[in-house]
Amino acid sequence: MSPEISEARALDHLMALLRIEGLSGDEGAVADEVRRRLIEAGWPASAIRHDGAARRLGPNFKVGNLIARLPGRAGGARRMFVGHMDTVPLCRRAVPVRKDGRIVARGATAVRADNRTAVAAIVTAAEALRTSGARHPPLTLLFTIAEEIGLHGAKEVRPADLGRPAMAFNFDSGDPARIIVGAIGATRWEAVLHGRSSHAGMHPEEGVSAMLAAGRAIAELGDRGWFGRIRRGRQAGTANVGIIRGGEATNQVTDLVTVRGECRSHRAAFLTRITAAYEAAFRRAARSVRNVRGQRASVEFRTQSDYRAFRLPESHPAVCTALRAARDLGLHPVTEVVDGGLDANPLVEKGIPTVTLGAGQHGAHSVDEYVDIAEYLAGCRLALRLMTAD
Ligand SMILES: [Zn+2]
Repeated sequence: MSPEISEARALDHLMALLRIEGLSGDEGAVADEVRRRLIEAGWPASAIRHDGAARRLGPNFKVGNLIARLPGRAGGARRMFVGHMDTVPLCRRAVPVRKDGRIVARGATAVRADNRTAVAAIVTAAEALRTSGARHPPLTLLFTIAEEIGLHGAKEVRPADLGRPAMAFNFDSGDPARIIVGAIGATRWEAVLHGRSSHAGMHPEEGVSAMLAAGRAIAELGDRGWFGRIRRGRQAGTANVGIIRGGEATNQVTDLVTVRGECRSHRAAFLTRITAAYEAAFRRAARSVRNVRGQRASVEFRTQSDYRAFRLPESHPAVCTALRAARDLGLHPVTEVVDGGLDANPLVEKGIPTVTLGAGQHGAHSVDEYVDIAEYLAGCRLALRLMTAD
C-alpha cells in the first residue's frame, strides 16, 4: 500500500509555518521550525544543516539554505524537493486565519502562502515518508533563502552540498495539476549618462544634458517597439525602464543620470537582441546631445544576467515522473512555461533538471493572497508520491 499523508498534520505544519515572519535574508525562524519538525518526524538531526550561501552573499543574509539529506531505502537516483522560505515585505505581521476552504490574512497583508505552502507540503511528505517506513530513493530537501529578491539562495547553492540530485521538484505555484517545465530568462541593465553642468538660465548652451539624452533614448525605444511587450516576427519578449535617478537642481543642466531596467525572453538570442537595442538607443541618444562647443554626452552601459531561460522537453525523465505522479493521484496534469523567474532557473543552469509544481498558493504578492486548502493537500500528496513512486 502506498503511504498516506495525515490531513491534520498537513494543516498543523502549514498553520505553524504561515505564522512565522521571514522576509528575504531573515529566514532563520522558518528554518528552525522546519528543522524541529523534521527531527520530530524522525529525520536524523545530523542530516540537516545550513549551507554557506549566507556567508557568500554577505551581511544582509542571516542564514544559509537549509538542506536535509536522506540515504535511499531502495535503489534509484537521488530526487530533490525545493521550496523557498522567504516572503515578500507585504507579508509583514501577517496573521493567517481559516475561512471556508481557504486560509487568508486577517488584515491588509499578504498571507505568506508564497511560499510556506511549499515548505509545509515538503515537511508533511517528509514526515509521512518516515512514519510509513516506505521505500524511497535517496532524497534531498532544499529550503532556499532570498528567492523573492533575486533567486539568491538557489544561485548560491552548490550541487555537491545537495548530493548531486538527478532531478528536482520545486514547489512554488498554485494548482498541482499545472506542471511548469520552463521559465523565461531575464537581464538587468544600467545606463549611466554623463553630460556637463551649466547654469540653466544664463548659459544653457554650455551644458550637455544627461536628462535630455535619457529622455530621447527611452522615447526612441518606445517608438520602435522595444518597450513593454515586444514582438519581432515569431520572437517575443518584454522590456521595462524601472528607475531613473539624476539631477540636483532645476536651474542646473543635468550632468549625471542613471537609468535602470530589465529585458526578458524565453529565447536567449532574442534576449541578447533586446538588450542590444537598449544599449544602441542610449549610445545614439548620448551622441545626439551636444553643447555649443560640440561636446557630447556619453554613456556607460552595463548588463547583468539575472537568470537564464530554460525549457525541459516533455520526454525528460523529470517531466515524465511529475506527470505520472500527478496522474496516479487522479489529477489531469498539463505542462506550461511561465514568464517569471523561479528557483528552477539557476538549478537547471547548475545541471539539476527541475520541474515546478503547485501546493495551493494564489494571489502572491497581493493582499488578496490565499491558500486553497484542497490544492494544498493535493500538493502534499504529490510531494509524497514523488518521494516514494518509481
Ligand atoms: Zn514564490
